[in-house]
Amino acid sequence: MGAKNSIYVCLLLILGIGLMIQGCSSDDADTNQIPQDQEGGTINEPFKPYVERFINEINQRGLNLSTEKLSVVFVDNITMPNSNQFCAYGYVNFQNSETPRVEVINSERCWGRWSETEKENLMFHELAHALLAFGHINGTLPNGSQKSLMCASETCNNYRVYNLYQKEQRSYYLDQLVNNRTEIPDWATENTFSRIVAEDSFDGGSEDWTTSIGDDLNNVMPYNFYIDNESVLSPSNALAIKSTSDSSTGAFGHWQKSFTVTDFENCSNILIRADIVTQGLVEGSVGIAIDLLERNMQNDFDFFARYSNAIRDLGAGTVSTENFEAKVICIPEETAAIRVLLYMNSVSKGTIATFDNLEIELFE
Ligand SMILES: [Zn+2]
Repeated sequence: MGAKNSIYVCLLLILGIGLMIQGCSSDDADTNQIPQDQEGGTINEPFKPYVERFINEINQRGLNLSTEKLSVVFVDNITMPNSNQFCAYGYVNFQNSETPRVEVINSERCWGRWSETEKENLMFHELAHALLAFGHINGTLPNGSQKSLMCASETCNNYRVYNLYQKEQRSYYLDQLVNNRTEIPDWATENTFSRIVAEDSFDGGSEDWTTSIGDDLNNVMPYNFYIDNESVLSPSNALAIKSTSDSSTGAFGHWQKSFTVTDFENCSNILIRADIVTQGLVEGSVGIAIDLLERNMQNDFDFFARYSNAIRDLGAGTVSTENFEAKVICIPEETAAIRVLLYMNSVSKGTIATFDNLEIELFE
């Protein structure tokens, strides 16, 4: 990282429900060049508002960036070789043409399905590669938040470094792009006080837990949801999901339940843990997702952000993972409830997951 004449690369590795984004290589630039738009760049229409916002934000902080020569384009494949697992790529010097360029795969998965704020997260990261020649910056602040928008570690999701309601955080991340020595902000001090918000060992059965199937169903019901009473981890019951057909269509199957959260400090952390037993998890994933919900004008709950963590490919046998964790760092004050999803996705027929001993802990 950081070699002067390197092309900064953004690696967007898509893994199941939670998009994990990682890695950045700075390979030496390729020597065989195809000259690109020498006159000026091409910025596809959907990217223009993000580019404009980025330039304004950065220039308000004392720099003098311009979009001259910048290209931000949809592509079917990332130009950089061996990059087909990435959703987007930022080049400071595209193919030695002295022009900055951002490429984004034109798909639902990489662009279409994301919210405005999530797209902005991605674009700001890529534009910082292309226009500020940044490499990746890993590490976390004392509360566990990413130190920089330029993160690329396993705990970093480049669509979700800040969310819709994290204006202060957004502002910090932009400051940090201009000044790497930006002080640790107040909201990022460590959350040391903890309390258990809820726990459930499912011994009363499924109670208020419901099941659902995600999109892309192809009219097949690939999962069977049931109460498992032979749980190996703790008697007597656990929630279970079994795939009844090959569910590689992308449909998620989940047990879900919402929990209200009240009287918490702004920017608290939520930690969810559960014991998970899998059988035959040779492909796909099993995990925990956490949706943040706000109250709307009708006093109903509306979704505004999702976080998750997954277990993958443990093999054909029975594997138990105790205290598997998923978390949300810095939940904003607007959060009125969280929805916990215990899920299975894109596994082969006969895969089983059981979930037991759920705990929700709040750190503030
Ligand atoms: Zn990157």
